Amino acid sequence: MKKRIKKFTQWQKVPHRVKPMSQEDHVCATCGRHYVGNFCPQCGQSSQIGRYSFKNAFLLFIDVWGLGNRGMFRAIRDLMLRPGYMIRDYLRGMQMAYFPPFKMLFLICALSLLVETGLNIKGINRYQQYMEMEKEYATRKKAEAKADKTHTAEWKEIQVAVYDMIYIAEGKVRQNPQLAVLVYMLLFSGPLYLLFRHCPAIPDLRLSECFVAMVYIINMLLILIMIPSVLCFSFRNEAIFDQFALLLAVIPIKQLSGYSYWSTIWRMLVALIPFCLIFLTFYIVIFIISYALSHPQLFQPSV
Ligand SMILES: [Zn+2]
Repeated sequence: MKKRIKKFTQWQKVPHRVKPMSQEDHVCATCGRHYVGNFCPQCGQSSQIGRYSFKNAFLLFIDVWGLGNRGMFRAIRDLMLRPGYMIRDYLRGMQMAYFPPFKMLFLICALSLLVETGLNIKGINRYQQYMEMEKEYATRKKAEAKADKTHTAEWKEIQVAVYDMIYIAEGKVRQNPQLAVLVYMLLFSGPLYLLFRHCPAIPDLRLSECFVAMVYIINMLLILIMIPSVLCFSFRNEAIFDQFALLLAVIPIKQLSGYSYWSTIWRMLVALIPFCLIFLTFYIVIFIISYALSHPQLFQPSV
């Protein structure tokens, strides 16, 4: 067992290797040039192109969605098994080996919308189901707010408006969970950069590289949090799963930076501080506003 783990961690660190080029002679079907290699040096056509087979018909078919054969499956596999090392290889310039990060993000967003609205094991529209549940909750809360006799009419109106707003916001987040993850992670990437820019593996890390790495890490997390949606977990279990999945961001960051787990974790926690401060400020502002609104007498001139 120990041997296997060691073998696996060794494998994780090895960059992808491109197959050696065949010495076979090709004649380009487009421009007629004789050459050795995988692509025609004159017009760029692949030497693989010949008569149609199901395989290249299928490749053409998935090319419609920009998948082509630029390592989509390799990128997914490596994001699951060796995310940080893969990102490092990509940043060092191995761009042909892996599917580009932003394109991948875009495709994952499209796919997860499909999964939410029916492409799952039960074939149900989970988005609609979730929104019905939320609507019920908002209606109940609004009724409670209206029935409460200790508050003024204005305050009740504000509360109702707040519940409506929360409902709409929940819908937006549910519809584009990727967007929420993206905003969080991008806010996170600034402080993370400051703490990791002199890391052992990439001692001259740039902010732009940190940003690209972050997009790959988001892709990894989005693939993971798609699992409960595909398997139709209950919404409660899904939320628990998603939170655990987010913790896994430690793994790629550790592999990418070359720090130990502890060094990575404390740096990530420190990077969270500005993030928490933003939230704290937000809550304090909300609290002050709601306090002021529920005590209108504070603003009336004293007689
Ligand atoms: Zn050619």
